[in-house]
Amino acid sequence: MNQAVLILIKPDGLKKSLTGNILTRLSETKLEIVAAKMVRVSAALAKEHYKHLNDKPFFNDLIKYLQGEFHDRRKVMALVYWGKDAIGKCRELAGATNPEEAESTSIRGSYGRITTGGVYENVIHVSSNESEAEREIKLWFAPDEIIVDLYPVAEKEEQRRLKGWA
Ligand code: UDP
Ligand code: MG
Repeated sequence: MNQAVLILIKPDGLKKSLTGNILTRLSETKLEIVAAKMVRVSAALAKEHYKHLNDKPFFNDLIKYLQGEFHDRRKVMALVYWGKDAIGKCRELAGATNPEEAESTSIRGSYGRITTGGVYENVIHVSSNESEAEREIKLWFAPDEIIVDLYPVAEKEEQRRLKGWA
């Protein structure tokens, strides 16, 4: 069954120059990249993305981590992969959430670490199921940033000034 999945290359992945490596690993899946961009992550976006963890002791540090405060890299790379069993394939390549428990050859097992503050710096985010993927993709991307029609869209009246090239 075809699925979409949100992948984030987190600030530690960018700082460690792992982007090419991670994209190469993900290309093993033969999935299609249908959206990609660099994002400067606001506190609001980070908190909404990780809202299921907002009662955890590490939540504040997790938000700072995703915003790049610990890595001097205030950005993440966001991608949507699409294809057969996309979530399972990407989660398997990513490895377990805890980098110490992740298979040593997985992306998180190879490059992740646990900070002394207790945050798992695990290099990438991968949506964990279809409903989470839909919520996250809609949070990170607008419909016209994705080159296939993943979810229903609606025409919206919007009055805002758009930036164009000068
Ligand atoms: N996390 C952490 N400590 C924990 C659990 C999670 O630092 O005990 C961080 C870690 O960066 C993880 C993120 O919170 O990737 C989201 O946690 P989740 O349980 O959703 O794991 P994931 O879906 O990323 O594998
Ligand atoms: Mg998760």
